[in-house]
Amino acid sequence: MHMKEKMWIGESMYGYHGKILKVDLSDGSVKTIELKEDLAKAFIGGSGLAARLLFDVLDAKTNPLGPDNHLAFMTGPFTATPVPQGSRYIVAGKSAQGFWGEACSGGSFGPALKGAGVDGVIITGAAKKPVYLFVHDSSVEIKDASHLWGKDTIETQEIIKKDLGERRIRVACIGIGGENKVKYASIMNDESRAAGRCGLGAVMGAKNLKAVAAVGDARAEIASEEMLRGILDFYKLVMEASPFYHLLREYGTYGYLDMAFEIGDAPTRYFTRALFPVEKVSSATFKDTYMVRNYACYGCPVACGKVVEYNKRGVKEIDTPEYETMVAFGPLLENYDLDSILYVNHLCNIYGIDTISAGVSIAFAFYLYEKGVIGKKDVGMKLEWGNSETIVKLVEMVAKRSGFGNILAEGTKGMAELLNVDPGEAANVKGLEIPMHDPRAFFGQALSYATGNRGACHLRGDFYQVDLGVGAIPELGIIQMDRFVLDGRVDAVAKYQDVRELYDSLILCKFSFATLSMICDFLNAITGWDYNPESIHKTGERIFNIKRALNNKFGVTREHDKMPRIAIAPLEEGATAGKTPNMEELLKEYYKARKWDWETGKPTKEKLEELGLGDIAAKIWK
Ligand code: SF4
Repeated sequence: MHMKEKMWIGESMYGYHGKILKVDLSDGSVKTIELKEDLAKAFIGGSGLAARLLFDVLDAKTNPLGPDNHLAFMTGPFTATPVPQGSRYIVAGKSAQGFWGEACSGGSFGPALKGAGVDGVIITGAAKKPVYLFVHDSSVEIKDASHLWGKDTIETQEIIKKDLGERRIRVACIGIGGENKVKYASIMNDESRAAGRCGLGAVMGAKNLKAVAAVGDARAEIASEEMLRGILDFYKLVMEASPFYHLLREYGTYGYLDMAFEIGDAPTRYFTRALFPVEKVSSATFKDTYMVRNYACYGCPVACGKVVEYNKRGVKEIDTPEYETMVAFGPLLENYDLDSILYVNHLCNIYGIDTISAGVSIAFAFYLYEKGVIGKKDVGMKLEWGNSETIVKLVEMVAKRSGFGNILAEGTKGMAELLNVDPGEAANVKGLEIPMHDPRAFFGQALSYATGNRGACHLRGDFYQVDLGVGAIPELGIIQMDRFVLDGRVDAVAKYQDVRELYDSLILCKFSFATLSMICDFLNAITGWDYNPESIHKTGERIFNIKRALNNKFGVTREHDKMPRIAIAPLEEGATAGKTPNMEELLKEYYKARKWDWETGKPTKEKLEELGLGDIAAKIWK
């Protein structure tokens, strides 16, 4: 095996095009940012590189829904390479709620963007009328989107492909959720793949940006094809030997629901219960009820995506809800009508709204209604747990911001403020609604939610996977232990978060079966670098801390690293009865492990300097 001798080929390096476009929608100007190898090596790509590039242009004064916010559509060194599950893309910017925001999606948009000859596109300003971007041949065109405004996300993708006369074009776009600046509006691509979280669809809508389309076959050169081929052969054996691979192929993420019920991981009745009639929504019931076929993201042999034949309500086919959606519109609302969950999933996809935040916000309304905080007069209808038609109506109202939907569209944080409710009742961290992994079921997950850069996120710090026995990273000493005990391993939660940063920078699907050593091998084969598990962990730590520093710029302190009371109050039933993490103690340990300042919530100057972020330290500690 050999590496090519030069690190640089003309103006680019291995694994990258060396080029990021910056588009200002206010004046229509386009600039090229040259990506240097030292920056790429330090922040990898995807969300890591986006955080570094956006650090200097975003601050506390940036209005998330104003022209000054920046939105980065980024690829990574794995994008459009043969690395399986490595072709996703990332969108990043200040979230609609005013914190660090990022969202990742699969499909084929990432490879199309990289195929257009760029590593990413950063968008600022706001257009006077609706526009979309067309990225191709290392350049970008700003095109009129007046005819697309008001169209749903599937129609939008189809019309753009037709307008541009090229079926290979891939489109990431918003629906009416983003146009109406729903605080949890998503960005959709490849029909129903979602960059769902953090309301970045609303940021697009505020910029009058309906879509980004991309096409091309440009490929960044790989340092050692031979080495890459060798690792791929081995990886295939590892993947096929994993039971998780077969579970994902058979059921998608939904296959986890039955187990989640057993261990008390599926939040029920707005985080106040743990038991529900699981047989009504189990993966077996689902399979018996619907005809299902698989589909895959670009080059992925797993094909965990699923489509079902629906043939109701004027809809032929619908994407099978992911586990998160299934619980958010199922047990969380005590709704066990599978048909309605499928339909609501479809509505969220075509309107472009995040299913997790939508489900949690609606469940919050049901909870407040039951407590008498809001009534029929406020909502315009009765809210009864499990009433599936009411849930369908409310999703429509959110996307359109009609009636009470205008309040629901603010998310749980905004709802608590508008309705004058204790924020401890609002199930979010840093404005991001808590996903469907109950923090009482895995204490490491609770800590990860509280300290996550984008808020309560089950993907950037999915520590529950470690304690389920599928996420161990032996190279860093991260192993499965008692899920209710974190003594002496709070640092494992921090290290796990660091490693997950790498996935969104490379960009690699969280369902990858590669060990950390294999990830280094993939990256080294592509770039010619010499990463090992220890050094790549440092890079992940650097990325985690620069995002934290950016959040500190936005005003984040220790006060924001909190779990809302509703999600950690001990339950009286199920496998987690009586369990609650001691968040104050865990946070103290975590700050020590991270070397963060307890008073300000900032990474210490020493820590930032140790990570090669001396320039960042000078900016946040001045
Ligand atoms: S495992 Fe599923 S989500 Fe991940 S890349 Fe493959 S098809 Fe996409």
